[in-house]
Amino acid sequence: MAGKVYLIGAGPGRPDLITARGLNILKQAEVIIYDYLVDPGLFLGLSAKLSRSDGSPDLMVKRAKEGKKVARLKNGDPSIFGRLKEEINALRAANIEFEIVPGVTAGNAAAAYSGTPLTARGFASSVVLATGHEVSGQSTIDWEKIAALPSIVLYMAVENLGSIVDKLLQNKKSPRTPVTVVSCAGSIFQKKVEGSLADIAQKAQKIPAPAIIIIGANKKYDWFKNNRRILFTGLSGEKFFLPGTYFHLPMIEIKPLADYSQLDHRLKNLEMFNWLLFSSRYGVQYFFERLFNLALDARSLAGLKIAAVGRSTASALQNYGVKADLVPKIESADGLSQELKKEGIKQQLVFMPRSNLADKGLEEKLTRLGAHVVSCVAYDNVMPQNLPDLDVSFFDEIMFTSPSAVRNFKKRYKTIPKRVKISWIGEVTRKEVKRVFNK
Ligand code: SAH
Repeated sequence: MAGKVYLIGAGPGRPDLITARGLNILKQAEVIIYDYLVDPGLFLGLSAKLSRSDGSPDLMVKRAKEGKKVARLKNGDPSIFGRLKEEINALRAANIEFEIVPGVTAGNAAAAYSGTPLTARGFASSVVLATGHEVSGQSTIDWEKIAALPSIVLYMAVENLGSIVDKLLQNKKSPRTPVTVVSCAGSIFQKKVEGSLADIAQKAQKIPAPAIIIIGANKKYDWFKNNRRILFTGLSGEKFFLPGTYFHLPMIEIKPLADYSQLDHRLKNLEMFNWLLFSSRYGVQYFFERLFNLALDARSLAGLKIAAVGRSTASALQNYGVKADLVPKIESADGLSQELKKEGIKQQLVFMPRSNLADKGLEEKLTRLGAHVVSCVAYDNVMPQNLPDLDVSFFDEIMFTSPSAVRNFKKRYKTIPKRVKISWIGEVTRKEVKRVFNK
């Protein structure tokens, strides 16, 4: 039996602008066929097979005929300059069932992230979405009609901006009409140029695609520019309701090991240890994944005392039904070893699943206190592949959550301009910031 296809709008710019429904479907899809403009950040944690396809619906039809659960993911909204008609025709011709899931279109994102209302009472009671591809030759667009409208949103118009402006001026649009050009709306690459119909073509010459051009709307408040912009380099999800607008670009990537024989050996013999010590939530995650892989479960930890270096590690443990016996008040290697000392760690056998990069500080401290420490790599912490080129001065602040993120940032982006503030979480991270960036 043929599979079913969902044509889904991914939204523009940032991966979390997809709808909850769209994301729920992606989680259950076996095959995701996506456009080049779709943010790959959207695919983290999904198990589907990914294929990029920018044109023909053939692959989608082929996979559906094989009985696969197919998601066809389009940038923005599928019904706006998204070749939806061709895809519907292909699916109907092949007799394949489908559903359409709407998305946030780029015009809406550009309006939101430049603080520009597309309609406003008493000023603009209608808005038109138009392509900028058709200015010369056999244009199906009536530029005279468009020019008469109070609010115009143009897609695919960067290249032809000069001729579009001419058309509008020829059709009596005032040269003083405000124009806002927003490139990569909502993303860490957003760029914005403002001007009037008279000067925008010249001002926006260098703005890169993809961009939206908003003509006519004027009552705006640019919250995006006025808020403090913070680049967050850690892996945890966004915390809302904090001051500033956060952009997430993780500077580390966590990966499973190629060979788990060492860890597995320890996991089968956990009862020999007195203490089990977790220094990160990833340690917890890979520890349990391997444990389950060996057909064991949390009961293997029954006789052990368990310590977590901080609250996020402790809460990861809690998710596996395990409550840490010890979480130090000061969340650091020092804090932990101080409290373990009070517990009487001398002569105790301690097991520490850790990352390939974990610094040896904690292990040494405990050894000095007379403990016998066995540590074992449970996961790799690596430099993410394909980190994009970045205009670091776009941000007001860069926040580091681990020493490895500091080093990887330095390796990839070299410097941080003076006016950009550096912030950190935790004492070890602070030290690494000082060492690497001299701040
Ligand atoms: N279906 C999409 C549009 C695809 S056409 C949607 O609903 O948004 C491609 C055009 O979309 C680009 O030329 C550009 O004008 C616009 N676009 C897509 N992503 C954008 C983004 N993040 N910022 C600004 N414009 C974007």
